[in-house]
Amino acid sequence: MIENELKALAGLYDRMDKAYGELAARSRFSCGGCADNCCTQRFHHHTLAEYLYLLEGLKRTEARTRETIIKRARIVVESYSHELQAGEIFKLMCPVNFDGLCALYQWRPMICRLHGLPHFFLMPDGSRKAGGGCHRFPATDSSMLDRTPFYTALAGIEKRLREQLGFRERFKKTTAQMIMEMSLELDIDEM
Ligand code: SF4
Repeated sequence: MIENELKALAGLYDRMDKAYGELAARSRFSCGGCADNCCTQRFHHHTLAEYLYLLEGLKRTEARTRETIIKRARIVVESYSHELQAGEIFKLMCPVNFDGLCALYQWRPMICRLHGLPHFFLMPDGSRKAGGGCHRFPATDSSMLDRTPFYTALAGIEKRLREQLGFRERFKKTTAQMIMEMSLELDIDEM
């Protein structure tokens, strides 16, 4: 059942949050007081599972907030096409961010949860890929978050969901693009 997979995803997100919190605490890394906001990063999401989970959050959000999110998402998505004309990538705030805080925090996607910590993951062929963390992460600390179990578990949830829904399309969307698709699905237009 789809509900079971979304429940499994909720459990996986809890494990991610716990692993992130533990490493951040050990390394004395905190976002507190930072003038930047990572929600201006152009994150792409790659799973239908995370789309459906975020959709649950959007459905449960208070109507005015939902309408504002959709209105902002439209502006962000329209800005992508203006980037082509301008020949530059704009720094655009995620439409879900309100005064520095995520309005769908409980339902936010994986990359929003893991961003900031140095990390690595093992590919199916055994090769290792690594990525840096936030510039505020202590330069003398060599700790890294192993994302492998999270990616593997998410791939399993995605595989089961796709099989159940008969979904075969490639998925790569920003949060703004997902919100615009959700607005069509919910048949909601902005105010
Ligand atoms: S979904 Fe939430 S945490 Fe993720 S980029 Fe948007 S506002 Fe930030």
